[in-house]
Amino acid sequence: MTESRPSGKSRREKWEAEQTFRFRCDPGVPCFTQCCQDVTIALTPYDVVRLKNALGISSEEFLDRYAIIISKENRLIPLVILRMQEKDKRCVFVTPEGCSVYKDRPWPCRMYPLDMDEEGLFFLITEPARCQGLKRSEEWRIGDWLVDQGVVPYDDMLTQFAGITTPLKSHESDIDNPDIKKMVFMALYNLDKFRKFIFESSFLDRFDVEESRIEKIKRSDLELLKFGFDWIKFGLFGQKLFRVKQKAAK
Ligand code: SF4
Ligand code: SF4
Repeated sequence: MTESRPSGKSRREKWEAEQTFRFRCDPGVPCFTQCCQDVTIALTPYDVVRLKNALGISSEEFLDRYAIIISKENRLIPLVILRMQEKDKRCVFVTPEGCSVYKDRPWPCRMYPLDMDEEGLFFLITEPARCQGLKRSEEWRIGDWLVDQGVVPYDDMLTQFAGITTPLKSHESDIDNPDIKKMVFMALYNLDKFRKFIFESSFLDRFDVEESRIEKIKRSDLELLKFGFDWIKFGLFGQKLFRVKQKAAK
C-alpha cells in the first residue's frame, strides 16, 4: 500500500480507497464550522429525503425554504442546491456547536475534505492551511473513513440515481416537454407530492403494482424514491419496469 500525506502540494493527487490520510475534525479545531460557509452543495434526491425527514417537514416545504432550484436550458433535471444565508453566506444548518442536521447531512458534507471523481478515485478539495483537521495525527484508511461517515447508503442511492442521469446525458436536450420535466422533478425531489399523485390519481388503476410494493411506498420514502427511479426509467427509457393493466390498455 502506498501512502500519501495531505499537503498543499499533493492536493490534487488521486487516491484509491486503500490509501490512508490524516484527519480529525471536532470543536477543538480553530477553523471549526468555517467550511460550512460560502459553499455550493448540490443535493441529490436522497439528500433531500434525509434532510426533510430530519426536519419533520414535507419535501415541498424543504424545497421552498432550504433549496435553490437552478433550471438550465437543455437539462431535464435541474440542479438543486442547499441555500446559504443571505447575510453571511453561512449554511442555514450551522450553529456554534456544529451542524444541526449532522446525522442527516448531505453527501458532500460527509465526504469533506475529500471528493470523488467519476472514476471513483478520491482527492482532497482543501488544504491544511484552511482545513486544520488535516494537520492532526489521526490516520484513516479512506474506505474505513467513508463507512465511519455514513457515506455507504448515500453511495447506493447515488448509483441508482446515476441509472437515470448517465443515460440521460446523451439525449437530455431532446426532451423539452414541460409536463415530463415536472413529472421527473416530482418523482425525484418532491416525494410527498409524488405519493399523492400515485394514491390520489388513477395511477394504480392504470398500472399493475404488487400489493406489497404499494404498502411499502405508502410508508417509506426510500421505497417511494426507488419506485420513482423505476417510474422515470420506464417513462424515459422504455425499461419494462411497469405493466399497464389490461383494462386500462383497452
Ligand atoms: S475546515 Fe476541516 S477541520 Fe475545520 S471544521 Fe471544516 S472539516 Fe473540520
Ligand atoms: S449541512 Fe451541516 S455540515 Fe453541511 S454545510 Fe450545512 S452545517 Fe455544514
